[in-house]
Amino acid sequence: MKTTVRNVLKLVLPFVLMAAAYYFYKETSTMAEAQLEIIELSPYVIFAVGAVISWKFNRSRELFILIVLALALASMEYVPGMMELSFPIAAADIYPLICLMIPLNIGIFSLFKERGILSLWGVLRIGIILSQALIVIWLLRPEQRKLLHLVQKDALPVSLASWTAVTQAAIAFFLIALIILIIRQVKYKSSQDISFIAVLCALFYVVHDNRDLLLYSVFFAVSGIVLITSIIQDSYSMAFTDELTGLPSRRALRQDMMKLGMNYVIAMLDIDHFKKFNDTYGHDTGDEALKLVASVIKDVTGGGRSYRYGGEEFTILFPGKSLNDTLPHLEQLREQISNQPFTLRNRKGKGRSKSGHKRRSARAGKQIYITVSIGLAQKSEKHKKPDAVMKSADTALYRAKKKGRNCVSK
Ligand code: GH3
Ligand code: MG
Ligand code: MG
Repeated sequence: MKTTVRNVLKLVLPFVLMAAAYYFYKETSTMAEAQLEIIELSPYVIFAVGAVISWKFNRSRELFILIVLALALASMEYVPGMMELSFPIAAADIYPLICLMIPLNIGIFSLFKERGILSLWGVLRIGIILSQALIVIWLLRPEQRKLLHLVQKDALPVSLASWTAVTQAAIAFFLIALIILIIRQVKYKSSQDISFIAVLCALFYVVHDNRDLLLYSVFFAVSGIVLITSIIQDSYSMAFTDELTGLPSRRALRQDMMKLGMNYVIAMLDIDHFKKFNDTYGHDTGDEALKLVASVIKDVTGGGRSYRYGGEEFTILFPGKSLNDTLPHLEQLREQISNQPFTLRNRKGKGRSKSGHKRRSARAGKQIYITVSIGLAQKSEKHKKPDAVMKSADTALYRAKKKGRNCVSK
């Protein structure tokens, strides 16, 4: 339940921030000049903070998108004034190019794999951004007027000019980027893509409305904030989630153990003969089996919360419960796991077991049953601290193993 709330929050938060930005922009009409100046500077400060954070967390995609946003905003804001000496440029000339660049880059950078910032890949990506800047400067030269007009030309027989300031080519770019991001979001469900979607939508709104520079400043600033929050959200869940099984990790367990109240039960669960399983079917199949077992443990009933303790061991906390409350639920869990068939898959080239024989393809389709042993203990006069209760549960687990495995022991 908690994870569902967290997931919904993850999806909604970027859009809530964007809505807040809209209301904030409305408020700017009553603000003093000095305040407005601060707002106009704020996106650059946020971009700089975002750049440092993405650098530290090794998140190149966010870093490059932040660079693109900074360049786009700065070129709208400052380039027309700066270039007047050599050749005059109006903000209106840069605008259609920026409208193309924003979706193009968000689309491209969302497709790139995370390959670091100071790597060869990172340098190549900086090259992509710089070459775009050069192309834009070249296109703005008086000799290229015709080409610039071509970018602004309508592709469709109808004109959308009465509805939007955005050119048809840019609308197409925005739509393609949006489709790419939605497909990625459905496929990977990462908070990264959802933040890119929110940024894309917000920036479309800005260029579509194209009201004044303040609108740009507010929405570019909040786009930076959305990217930063997604990095922090992802890092948080990375720290507290086990990568293989998706269960809360040992770090989360440690924290939650500190929050246990007056009564609670701790159960330790260990897969039976898992070493043999790995030796027989290979480590990759072992990982698949771990995921399957974890998916059952995750839905433990009776008010329990499951964690991956480490290796093939799991912990379940039952706050406010006694041994008798939890026993039937753990029995049910044990039985459920032992009745859940694990089907060997045929994955060519990966079917090597420890002894070096290519066994998996021969056994593909075969159903294997995995069992677990469970030990549990509750808080008592003898075991007052969570660590002591856990130790006692571990001893009970040892007894369950001794009894012949595939059983629950208290
Ligand atoms: P028992 O029934 O007494 O628990 O025997 P066991 O073989 O399960 O116990 P043992 O502690 O000897 O072996 C645990 C094995 O779990 C060893 C290791 O190869 C395997 N294992 C631990 N973590 C992982 C993992 O992340 N992936 C895979 N595939 N195997 C793992
Ligand atoms: Mg073990
Ligand atoms: Mg084991």
